[in-house]
Amino acid sequence: MNNLVWFRNDLRVQDNNSLFEASKNKENTIGVYCLDPRQFETNKHGFKKTEKFRAKFLLETLRDLKNNLADLNIPLYIFHDIPEKVVPELINKHAITNLFLQKEWTPDEVLINNKVKENINRTEVKWIETYDQFLFHPNDIPYVSFDKIPEVFTEFRKKCEKESKIRPCVSITAMPKENFFVTSNIIPSLEDLGLENFKLHKNAAFPFRGGETNALKRIEHYFFETENLSVYKKTRNGLIGESYSSKLSAWLANGSISARTIYWEVQNYEREICKNEDTYWLIFELIWRDYFKYISLKHGDKIFKLNGILNKEYEWKLNDKAFRQWTNGNTREPFVNANMIELQKTGFMSNRGRQNVASYWAKEWEQDWRIAAKYFESMLIDYDVHSNYGNWMYNAGVGNDPRDRKFNIKRQAEMYDAKGEYQDLWNKK
Ligand code: FAD
Repeated sequence: MNNLVWFRNDLRVQDNNSLFEASKNKENTIGVYCLDPRQFETNKHGFKKTEKFRAKFLLETLRDLKNNLADLNIPLYIFHDIPEKVVPELINKHAITNLFLQKEWTPDEVLINNKVKENINRTEVKWIETYDQFLFHPNDIPYVSFDKIPEVFTEFRKKCEKESKIRPCVSITAMPKENFFVTSNIIPSLEDLGLENFKLHKNAAFPFRGGETNALKRIEHYFFETENLSVYKKTRNGLIGESYSSKLSAWLANGSISARTIYWEVQNYEREICKNEDTYWLIFELIWRDYFKYISLKHGDKIFKLNGILNKEYEWKLNDKAFRQWTNGNTREPFVNANMIELQKTGFMSNRGRQNVASYWAKEWEQDWRIAAKYFESMLIDYDVHSNYGNWMYNAGVGNDPRDRKFNIKRQAEMYDAKGEYQDLWNKK
């Protein structure tokens, strides 16, 4: 048997079920990652699908993955090319019999899968897909099918907490030395991807660095070294600095850490250091993350449609000038502006900020929420299709918010930035 692991948003070696399955019998195993040029193209609105922040984080992630795999005697090929060309070629070259990959269901990914399938001999290659991005595995949730997932988060959370268990992490052991060979291809640079190199902004909340090794360091720091986890619920609505929230989103998004790993580290922390409402709240937020994935599984392409999963018909505008004002932090609301400038300069924005700028765009200005969601997709270092579109629908009133709230931006600024420090930090003086 010859095994190929096609890495996508599961860029880790520990608790990676595809890698575990491929390597457990110590048969020949290699890995591949494709930097798909289509991910870095400019769209019709004039911005890139992936901007420099996430691209840089991804390249750092790949470097770390390649090293960590080499330690396990598993070679990783990295190509700046399309998967439907690269994967079949590797399959032929290495007489691959089993292809392992994380299961994705959104249209772009399914389309690429289908193209890859067209170019390989399906009778000779077994296609083995695993859901590996969840906290609660789809086979373990208390719903017989995805269409039974409730539209209200609390209902979902309570039932899962009561009736489902989180699976233990799988641990990958090294392959025999003979499995390893040096793959000559080097990792492309930002410039190779058509993006400019840049330095971390001096006001950046957090110096995100890609890779599983850094994700594990962040857990160690946020949990055990600083014990910030013990006050997470109290600080999570903060706006400035590295300690107000976990900052684990970027690693979770490209799968360089699994949600299960974080869950089990929280359990360790609760046993060794402290267990309180704050420590639980990080799990609560990870369940939100799962929930949006299940909503996406349930509703399919509807999460990308203007009327959302609610099929609500609102009057939406789409004004270029408004879009420029919003993205450049040039609106009448200094709190919105500060957040949008932070995103533009760093690729990150707090959860409090995201909710406010989204509400302002979709509810105050009644502008088409999808272009704003696309802009977030471009800019965010932690872009995750389900969390992004799920939260956007929620804030635009076409998703899972049973109360359909609109934020009072001035009041939000008074509550969360009473002294105006955050606004001063980012607004041009
Ligand atoms: P923490 O507060 O430390 O939370 C821990 C983890 O829980 C996060 O890393 C994340 O994985 C999960 N989480 C927390 N809040 C949410 C939430 N509301 N929805 C889903 N998961 C959550 N998050 C993304 O990861 N990718 C996105 O593309 C994304 N787009 C968003 C768009 C909008 C309009 C809004 C309102 C929110 C969006 N979020 C997104 C959710 C949230 O803002 C970020 O997960 C969070 O700010 C990341 O910082 P953190 O890791 O320090 O979060």
